[in-house]
Amino acid sequence: MAEYKRRRFVRRRKVCSFCVDHVSHIDWKDVDTLKRYIMPNGSIRSRHKTGTCAKHQRQLATAIKRARFIALLPYTTAHVRASGFSRR
Ligand SMILES: [Zn+2]
Repeated sequence: MAEYKRRRFVRRRKVCSFCVDHVSHIDWKDVDTLKRYIMPNGSIRSRHKTGTCAKHQRQLATAIKRARFIALLPYTTAHVRASGFSRR
């Protein structure tokens, strides 16, 4: 499968940017870094898109969830609009 389209373009090998920087622990206070790993709608980007390794993706997810909990990052865009006030 997909034999005919090999070598169409050389895909850049995705490396985990945290591994490159030798990050041993992802800081949940580092919002600027975390923001790069969330979608515009606030969800966490999949590691297929970012190339983050399993170890760092796990840390990243935890960091983002912590940042969400103390409102550094949004859960969803709808959540932002609601600004913490439940509709119900
Ligand atoms: Zn990594």
